[in-house]
Amino acid sequence: MNDTTELPRFFAIGIGAGPANLSLAALLQHRTEENIALFDKSSDSSWHSGLLHPGVRMQTSWMKDLVSLVDPTHELSFLNYLVTESRLFALINSQFDVIPRREYMRYLSWAASKINDIHYNTPIDEVNFVENEGFYAYSNGSPVACSEHLVMGVGTRPSVPAGLATMPQDRAFIADDLASHLPDMSADPSAPVAVIGGGQTGVEAVLRLLGAGFTNIKWLGRRQWFQTIDDSPAANDIYRPAHQQFLQGLTRSTRKRLVEEAAPTGDALTPGALRVLYQANYDRMLEYGDFPVKLLPGRDVTEGQADGDELVLQCTTAERLEEHRVRYAIIAVGRQDAPMPFSVELRDRLDVDEDGDIVVDEDYSVRWKGMNGHRIYVLNRARYSHGIADANLTLLPVRAAVVINSMLGGEIFAVRDDLGPVQWD
Ligand SMILES: Cc1cc2nc3c(=O)[nH]c(=O)nc-3n(C[C@H](O)[C@H](O)[C@H](O)COP(=O)(O)OP(=O)(O)OC[C@H]3O[C@@H](n4cnc5c(N)ncnc54)[C@H](O)[C@@H]3O)c2cc1C
Repeated sequence: MNDTTELPRFFAIGIGAGPANLSLAALLQHRTEENIALFDKSSDSSWHSGLLHPGVRMQTSWMKDLVSLVDPTHELSFLNYLVTESRLFALINSQFDVIPRREYMRYLSWAASKINDIHYNTPIDEVNFVENEGFYAYSNGSPVACSEHLVMGVGTRPSVPAGLATMPQDRAFIADDLASHLPDMSADPSAPVAVIGGGQTGVEAVLRLLGAGFTNIKWLGRRQWFQTIDDSPAANDIYRPAHQQFLQGLTRSTRKRLVEEAAPTGDALTPGALRVLYQANYDRMLEYGDFPVKLLPGRDVTEGQADGDELVLQCTTAERLEEHRVRYAIIAVGRQDAPMPFSVELRDRLDVDEDGDIVVDEDYSVRWKGMNGHRIYVLNRARYSHGIADANLTLLPVRAAVVINSMLGGEIFAVRDDLGPVQWD
């Protein structure tokens, strides 16, 4: 092990500087004297930049920024960003229902530039624990910092099912790579292209292809229809601290069932994006005499192989097997948890449940053997304990406030959600 005597020491280290840890650092630095350092493998504060196609919109209100839900006078509010960057009036008058994703990304960069101790280009490959000292984070084999507490905010990464992973990568790739492949693909816009995955990333890829002039796009989704988010007031009551508290009082199996039942409130398409697609597809049908986008719901694409210049996709439908031959396949089938870089010794000390998942407590801390006052928190890893909102931006500051209160052992932030018409239990 390298020498650790001169290492910078922090109250907390955050692995990942995505919105989750940015919110935590912004709130901690504003209200306390404690310091936190964030380490991120990315070169800058870009946010899902590969998926930033023209015209894409947020799925959440601009009021769900990094700080306002618990600290509305914080200088890193979205409103302050608009005023400071002279874009308030232009944005208001543009009358967006939801803001462009590019605007949220700019807001994140602006906020990140005002938060101390964010270290980009620093992949953390291991975090270990030394008795009576604390956590040590290592990047490329060398220690970079040590701390009292640890916060994992490593987010997610795109999934590629094994059956689709063996196709040639220049013709079958994740949606994050579509923009970089488009110049080559555009040599023949009549080439058949499949977009695999009926979620938001899928519809945005289809729209990008349509906008680039492609005329033979097959959009394949697993569900029986291309389902939109339930954005009703009642569905939105699930995205409240009161609902998270309600879930805490239930058994693990009941919680899991309720969280799965709530999927249509979040794991689905934005209605606006689907409408844009239907209208653009209709317009092109008037122009070309046929719909350039064929919607193929109820297809589970299980395998893909190359056959000369073609890719052959095997699907199961409700009652039969089906084959689609295309030139390109864009894979947009969802995301999986990014690995948390615990050392083997530290991982062995974490409590796990009967499914092998780490146990996340109400304050987002993880139970582990020998913690002795040193806490580990996990962000975006508590879907089945804290509900579907855990993976979203909607309650970021609330979660960060709960973590800070827990780290400091007091009510630094008040988290209140008392007034509502719904009685959950
Ligand atoms: C395209 C897209 C749009 C979305 N839009 C919305 C929306 O409008 N509203 C909403 O509520 N939710 C949205 N979500 C869901 C969710 O809010 C986001 O995924 C959000 O980015 C989660 O924040 P995070 O900080 O937990 O993770 P991430 O944003 O994924 O950040 C994790 C960070 O950790 C870094 N990292 C990972 N491992 C390491 C390591 N070992 N060492 C160092 N750094 C590491 C990564 O580089 C990354 O910067 C969207 C998701 C996607 C993919």
